[in-house]
Amino acid sequence: MPHSHLIKPLIGDHYPMIDYGKGVYLYDKEGQEYLDACSGAVTANLGHGMEEIIQSIVDQGSKVAFVYRSQFSNQPAEDLAAFLHEKTGYPWSFFVNSGSEAVETAIKIALQHWQEKGRPAKRRILSRWLSYHGITFGALSASGHPVRRERFDSVIGDWPTVEPPYCSKCPFGKTYPSCNLACADQLEIMIRRIGSENIAAFISEPIIGAAGGAITPPKEYYSRIKEICGRNNILFISDEVMTGCGRTGTFLALEQWGIEADIVAVGKGMSAGYAPIAAALMSDKVMDPIINGTRIIMSGHTYSGNPLSSAAALAVLKLIDSEKIIEGVESKSIYLRNLLDKLKAEFSFVQEVRGKGLLLGLEFDMKGIETGGAFTSAVVAAGVDNGILLYPAAAGIDGRKGSAIIIAPPLNITKRELDEVYKRLRSTFQTLEKNWKEDHDD
Ligand code: PMP
Repeated sequence: MPHSHLIKPLIGDHYPMIDYGKGVYLYDKEGQEYLDACSGAVTANLGHGMEEIIQSIVDQGSKVAFVYRSQFSNQPAEDLAAFLHEKTGYPWSFFVNSGSEAVETAIKIALQHWQEKGRPAKRRILSRWLSYHGITFGALSASGHPVRRERFDSVIGDWPTVEPPYCSKCPFGKTYPSCNLACADQLEIMIRRIGSENIAAFISEPIIGAAGGAITPPKEYYSRIKEICGRNNILFISDEVMTGCGRTGTFLALEQWGIEADIVAVGKGMSAGYAPIAAALMSDKVMDPIINGTRIIMSGHTYSGNPLSSAAALAVLKLIDSEKIIEGVESKSIYLRNLLDKLKAEFSFVQEVRGKGLLLGLEFDMKGIETGGAFTSAVVAAGVDNGILLYPAAAGIDGRKGSAIIIAPPLNITKRELDEVYKRLRSTFQTLEKNWKEDHDD
């Protein structure tokens, strides 16, 4: 029998076959309804079945579906670059097909930047422990995600990582704010050890997603990071694949720390799942040496700047703009956070509620012991049984023993639908408490 899914299902022994989606709901072929409280993989930012987006893809397809980027440009890709420039201030976009590729591209451009400036020794990439930048080898080399790295140790790089800004489990045993951001200052120590003359860039996610469950750094953190990078002549890459395109209440999450990175990776919400597309965005400072040098970015994929995907992303971003969806995120965030705080008060295993905008995380601790991936899988499975989709995240300072989920519904979810998220989460936690107790009490 042929298979398209060569992985073990997260839940049970088969994949439900999805039939269609409408708004924040998905329906499988057996008629089961799922409330998509995590937008798939924090991707379907506008929910499912948006007619105007689908129509834009159809319209573009009837003109031309594919051109090869080294032969032609195309209008949707150019319009998308112009739109991203207007919203983010980055004048240069390089389109790829996935978040992993956007990160790979960002890293390659950082390396090329220094080569074109006659500094080829600046080639090391620093990153952060408890981070996920993608599954391809370069992006995985930069990822401090032990579970996703372990099988490929022989191939991926052991790139230096600094400790995460994980205040509730501070790796230094300190407390914010008296810690004086020891975690950010560790970057300086690392740079001194390796030598800034050998380092191209530092990469981090504004909010730690898959590797931490919406771990959110304190408000002064990124200005300290940016200052350290600037003083040491190191490029700062922000991986906004999960946080970008409005997810946290601003177009880019780093805006909320008052910071601009030198290179930004976006993906996921950029096309809200309507077509595969992602991008690396660059400042003039990054691109000038390349434009005045070889004038070519040594990267690219067959489907880079694909007209269909570009049309989908453009339609998504224009809709987010015209419907003022990002402006509505903060009040929905406060509303959802209050509901999650209620759950924390009711269920003792909910240890922390955190995150920004509609990227919120719950970290769990069952009976005072860190519970790990098994507990996370049990939460996700209980969610499915109760008709709600939840995104599993690693957590705990070792990236293995902790347990967390991400709640990240489509940005256009209504408050009434958020009440339904609460209702289904509550019944999920009731199921969980009962099952987990039955299995572990003896
Ligand atoms: N960076 C971040 C921050 C992500 O969350 C992800 C996906 N979870 C990626 C990169 C990789 O994106 P993709 O799965 O589209 O390759």
